[in-house]
Amino acid sequence: MAGILVVGGGPAGLESSWHLAERGQEVILIEADEELGGRPRWYTCKAVDQCRKCGACLVSEKVYRVENHPAIKVMTGTEVSKAYHNGTGFQIKLSRGEAVVEIQVAGIIMATGFDLLSPARRPEMGYAHLDNVVTAHEMEQMLAKGSGDWEDLLGAMARIAIVKCFGSRESIPGVTIGDQDGDQSLPGFWKHRSGVPYCSRVCCLYSEKLAVVLQDKIPGATVDIFGIDNQKYHPVYAVGQNEGYRLIRGIPSRIYPGPGQAVSLRYEDGQRSLLSEGVYDWVVLCPAVLPGDKGRGLSEMLQVARDGHGFIVSRAGFTDQPGVFAAGSCTGPQTIVESLHSGQTAAENLLMSLGL
Ligand SMILES: Cc1cc2nc3c(=O)[nH]c(=O)nc-3n(C[C@H](O)[C@H](O)[C@H](O)COP(=O)(O)OP(=O)(O)OC[C@H]3O[C@@H](n4cnc5c(N)ncnc54)[C@H](O)[C@@H]3O)c2cc1C
Ligand code: SF4
Ligand code: SF4
Repeated sequence: MAGILVVGGGPAGLESSWHLAERGQEVILIEADEELGGRPRWYTCKAVDQCRKCGACLVSEKVYRVENHPAIKVMTGTEVSKAYHNGTGFQIKLSRGEAVVEIQVAGIIMATGFDLLSPARRPEMGYAHLDNVVTAHEMEQMLAKGSGDWEDLLGAMARIAIVKCFGSRESIPGVTIGDQDGDQSLPGFWKHRSGVPYCSRVCCLYSEKLAVVLQDKIPGATVDIFGIDNQKYHPVYAVGQNEGYRLIRGIPSRIYPGPGQAVSLRYEDGQRSLLSEGVYDWVVLCPAVLPGDKGRGLSEMLQVARDGHGFIVSRAGFTDQPGVFAAGSCTGPQTIVESLHSGQTAAENLLMSLGL
């Protein structure tokens, strides 16, 4: 029996693999990194007194189940170097370093995830040269790798700014997506651009949870959240606004060093129409969600259609190529739970399309 190839071991790929295996299929799950879990494997628990439903622990549970399923062969550190439709299915060449394996599969699920806009594209925001200006993903990694003493890591009574909507919801007059600065050798949406017009959907959710847990773990810490507004796409995740952090409507225009080890942040306070400045020990940027660059080669090999932003066009997991399905944030920004659901849907519809 030809198996199914699942590409990407984040929430979406894990869930697809699990459902396919439970329905009697032989699954090969490949992951470019050395570990399964995708981006959420770095996310810290956001519980304060009780679970705050961030979804991170759902992923570690899925990793355990997938790694121990007899019908799932997991190959980490592995990518697809060649893929084509050969009439009866797909001929695939998998590479891990110098080692190459050829396989034949009946179907493919792409669960190749997302990337984040590089904040270095905005030199005025200090990311490239200020050590205490980091992305939210880097902050999660610091917290996960640290000793668990957040006060020790970030400083007593740390003053923290979280900058949401960083590079999202940009409207630059006269500039269409793909026409902005960046590597001109790349087609449209793969250029390293400085902003995207859409909402990244997940950053309101995670920034509020991060703010609350930071204030809980570091006595006396203060958190200001800057952003265009507050999206409540996900009622299950909704948190109140009176949880200690300050919500400031406005995006900072500049971040610069000082006083001392701190950084200063200049912003227009949208509510009071005032140009203001704030001093912080840490600035956490929430950059725009972009289509994952590691999935680009495969989507080109399989000639899968993408939308104007570079995300795979998918309806209930179906792409425009027979036998090729897509799940999770490679189809657009999604939460962990949404990615798990789309992984399941893609698996079910792939089986249906193969008559299995
Ligand atoms: C800072 C931050 C915090 C967040 N916090 C939350 C939160 O608290 N709750 C929540 O619900 N959501 C949160 N999110 C969103 C969450 O990260 C996504 O919902 C989730 O990661 C999407 O899962 P995915 O499987 O689609 O993609 P990913 O997690 O990106 O996983 C994709 C995987 O595919 C692999 N891959 C890609 N291309 C290839 C290839 N060609 N070959 C092999 N492997 C490949 C990648 O290495 C990666 O491991 C957060 C996002 C960010 C940026
Ligand atoms: S869902 Fe998030 S907050 Fe709740 S227990 Fe799991 S990791 Fe912690
Ligand atoms: S989800 Fe929130 S923070 Fe992210 S781009 Fe949309 S409005 Fe801004």
